[in-house]
Formats: sequence, C-alpha cells, structure tokens
Amino acid sequence: PKTPKGICGADADTLVARNLLRAVAAGSGCYIHIVENTALNLRAIGESGGPIKSPAALDRLAAHLGVSGTGLHEKAVNVANAVLSDLYLPRYETMRLTEKMAYAPRYALWDKLGILPGGAKSEVFDGVVKSSTNLNSDPVDMLMHCLTLGISTGLYGLTMTNLLNDVMLGQPVIRSAAVGFKTIDPRYINIMITGHQHSCFTDLQERLVAPDAVRRAKAAGAEGFRLVGCTCVGQDLQLRGEHYQEVFTGHAGNNFTSEAVLATGAIDMVVSEFNCTLPGLEPIADKLKIKMICIDDVSKKANAEYARYSYQDREAVTEKVVSEAIASYRARRGDVKMNIPADHGNDDTLTGVSELSLKEFLGGAWKPLVDLIASGTIKGVVGVVGCSSMVSGGHDVLTVDLVKELIARDIIVLSAGCSSGGLENCGLMSPSAAGLAGPSLRAVCEKLGI
Ligand code: SF4
Repeated sequence: PKTPKGICGADADTLVARNLLRAVAAGSGCYIHIVENTALNLRAIGESGGPIKSPAALDRLAAHLGVSGTGLHEKAVNVANAVLSDLYLPRYETMRLTEKMAYAPRYALWDKLGILPGGAKSEVFDGVVKSSTNLNSDPVDMLMHCLTLGISTGLYGLTMTNLLNDVMLGQPVIRSAAVGFKTIDPRYINIMITGHQHSCFTDLQERLVAPDAVRRAKAAGAEGFRLVGCTCVGQDLQLRGEHYQEVFTGHAGNNFTSEAVLATGAIDMVVSEFNCTLPGLEPIADKLKIKMICIDDVSKKANAEYARYSYQDREAVTEKVVSEAIASYRARRGDVKMNIPADHGNDDTLTGVSELSLKEFLGGAWKPLVDLIASGTIKGVVGVVGCSSMVSGGHDVLTVDLVKELIARDIIVLSAGCSSGGLENCGLMSPSAAGLAGPSLRAVCEKLGI
C-alpha cells in the first residue's frame, strides 16, 4: 500500500479482517441456507406422513438431540423444529443443539472464549453488518466472529445437514461405484443435477423410475430416465447410491468437469438448486439445446426456467422436470453430436463412507484403525476436502499430486466435496491405488481389499 491507512483511518489489519469476515459470513449463509431447506423438507415429510427412508437414522438423531415424539413422523417434525428454532434464534441467544453436536471439551473451550453461536442466521446477518464500511474496526473482534460462524456452519450447515439427509434419503453404505463420463448412457434421457441440497430430489428420484414415467420416456424413444451426478449433490447421491441404483448412473465429475459433461452432448437437461452451477454452463446449454431448470433461485441461471421447489409443491415440480426433459430429448437428439469418452473414469471407486459405515467396516470399533496409527504403521489421517481449483498446474492437478504424495508416505487420505470428484476420476479411490501407497498402507489396503 502507498499509505499505512485508508482515507477513513482503517489500517491493514482492519481491512483484511473485514474482508475475511464478509467472505466467511457469505459462506456461512450458503450452508445455513442448505440446512434450513433440509430441515424444512424433513418437517414437511413428517407433517404429511411422507416416506422416511431410514427410521434408524431418525431414532438415533432424535435420541442424540434429546428430542422425542409419538411415532416416526411426529419425531421427524420435532427434530426439524428443534433445528429450525435454533437457526432462527436472535444472536444474543445461544443455539441449544450446539452442545449436543459438539465434542464436549471443545464446547467448554468455545464457551470460555465467548464464541458460542447465537441463532445461525442472525450471526450471518451481523457478520455482514460488522464488515460494512466504517462499522467494526477491531480486527480481533471480527476474527472471533469468523470463529463463531465456523462453529455454526460446521455443526449445522454440514454435520446436521448430513444427519437429516440420512433420515430422508437413507444411510450411506460402503460399496464400489462407477464414476466419470463412462457413467453417462446415451440410451436414456439424462438429467444432470448440480448443487448441494439432496433432499430437494426425494420425489424426483423416485418418480423418474416409476412405470408411468418410464413409459413416457420410451414413447419418446429412450429407455427411461437417468440422473447424472455432478458437484456436491452428485457426491451426495453417490454416498447414498446403494438406495438409488436404478435412477442414478454415477458421479460424472466435479464443478469444472460439469462443463465437459454437458459437452458430451448426451445430457438433455440440467436441474440446479445450489452451487456450483457454473455460469459457464449457460452458453454450452444454449449451443447444445440443453434445457436448464432451476429449483432454488439462489442458483438461478440466466437461461434457466425457475420452478421453485418445496416439499408441498414437489409433484408439480417433478412433473415439470419430467415433461420438459422429454421435450428436450425429442428436440435435440439426432440434432446434436455426441462424444462420450468411454474410457474416462472407472467402475470400482470406493464410496459410501460415513462415520457409521466406516466403523461397521472396521468391525464395529475404531480400535483397529487407532492401533495402526499408534503403532506407527500408518502415519496418520489427512483430510483433503473442499472445492477443486484451477491453480498450480490445472484442474485437480494440485489435489491429485498432493494425495499421491501423502499415500506414498503411508498417510490415509479422507476426501470430500469436489476434491473427491477429481481424485476418484483419476483412480485414487479405487483398490488399484494401493499400488501408489507406501509399503505399510499398501499392505493394509490389500489385506482389506480396498
Ligand atoms: S465442493 Fe466446492 S466446488 Fe464443489 S460443488 Fe461444493 S462448493 Fe462447489
């Protein structure tokens, strides 16, 4: 900088903390939006007596949160209400479920530091206020606010969303799955989904394989409908893919790969509900006559038709998707060139890993894994999580190289988000990746057949 302070007197620490807080508040807003919609969907399912895919997940979550109810549906409503009422609290009231969701010693520390979150939406709101021009100029206060937002985002936006999805969509089961472009079958009407809100697809994924919908697809010349996964919602479907084997072809790729997925010509429709629905999809969709439908306007694309999803309106939204997908298939097939790289991806990506499924896989206890780490056979576990990026050599290059390096040093890698999309398409989540691991990790993988 040419001067030590801005014209208003703000120093560099204030400017940096203000920008960081604004970015963190925006990110928190995104994930709180997701958990809010997820809880609203669960409440609507409970109130209408709709399908609860995993009663066991509901019982476990309700017991954990200290929520009761007569019967499954009432329990679902009460769990959803407990989450929603926390999200809607004012900032000066601490959210009640945080303590039940957090690791106890850490909760005590947060309490001591005074960073326990009040209502999650209010925390985002005041984060935006604080970081506006000439409001807060205390960098430490703004950084502490970032930590508070991190707690509400992690525990509610991420962990709670997954636990609620387990109830509505089924619990993850460890299995082998197909990934990459090879999962796209041109004989079907293919709908690519992008976003983060799996619970907005509960109705669609059941209806697309219903006999009357398949009959309509066949009348148009296709074999039926298929959902092609992209971005985080594709990962979610992959995670719970055990329950959706017929409708879900597999996870084709991550955020930036979605452009190339459209470019294969075999996708007839994009249904988006959140990020990352790249603006770069728009011109490709226009050129290849791909219908775009957006079901949550936070991810509205300029050329997408908006059909707002709510559980109450699910049948109308599903019917819109089905009829428009058929119309799109009829209009574009034969007219648009197809090019699906058949050798892209693999059929043996290990997926379905959750805290519960992993523990089951280990024989019902963490001890085998802890023993391997304690003895030094495995050096540790590293999380390579989050979005993919284009820096350091190109798309996914950084994460793929990093993971190769880590496993070569006998370190287990846990991945999530779009990082997984790149890693799995490059074969790093297949049993054959054991060949790239250090001798100790390789021996463990080969013994377990993973
Ligand atoms: S992991 Fe990141 S890049 Fe991928 S869909 Fe989620 S937010 Fe977007």
